Amino acid sequence: MPRPRVHLTEAVILRQRDYAEADRLLTLLTPAGKVVVLARGVRRPTSRKSGHLGLFCRSRLMLATGSNMDLVTQAEVIEAHEALGRDLLRYAYASYVAELVDLLVPEGEGSPQLFELVSGALAWFATASDLRLEARRVELALLNDAGYMPSLYKCVVCGNELVPERNVFDVAQGGLVCASCSATLTHGVPLSLGAQKVLRYLGTRSPDQVALLRIRDSTHQELERVMQAYLQYTLERQLKSTEFLKALRANLLLHEGASLHDDAEDQAQV
Ligand SMILES: [Zn+2]
Repeated sequence: MPRPRVHLTEAVILRQRDYAEADRLLTLLTPAGKVVVLARGVRRPTSRKSGHLGLFCRSRLMLATGSNMDLVTQAEVIEAHEALGRDLLRYAYASYVAELVDLLVPEGEGSPQLFELVSGALAWFATASDLRLEARRVELALLNDAGYMPSLYKCVVCGNELVPERNVFDVAQGGLVCASCSATLTHGVPLSLGAQKVLRYLGTRSPDQVALLRIRDSTHQELERVMQAYLQYTLERQLKSTEFLKALRANLLLHEGASLHDDAEDQAQV
């Protein structure tokens, strides 16, 4: 059946690139999938659409079929997530997730579930208090959606149920390796029992439940290290926004003159 010439869709704006004199190419995630569209004239100060097509906005768009790509003919913002524009750290996390989605999801692919996941994640980054934990939850959810969920309950080598002890995460095999199989392993990221529990918790709980979790800084660091290693391996590249995020966090700490507090007890109820 031929596609209608004009169609209405909701979309999250993942990426913007200047195009020609006053246009912009927008990478969108819609319930039907990822798509690149052209927004004509939005860089002109008089554009009525530009305020509805901001980065990370959830908007309702009218798209017209163009010769090479669809054109945005109307736009109405639903959620602008203003907090992301006001807070550089929140903005950096939102950029990171947008880049991750752009790399993990090929053009034309996606689903209503993925759209809600990403749209919801951007809303959480505008309000969440523990941005690092939310980032780990979203990473796992996106990996799960893309078919790369790491094995967290069974050894990826022998398939045996993992016992509660320090295990090794092997990025190449895509999950945890038991003590006997990891004895001959020359690579991998050792993970404390606490970090393993938090990963399992993040992989199975809702954003509201994750928001209640409090973990110590050393666990945060372990989780960040392992997820970055796994993502880098899976995507076969380093994400551009990761370095910016790290530099920004280091800079913020420096200016606050504060060190990250390391809770005496791991309060994770996992
Ligand atoms: Zn094993």
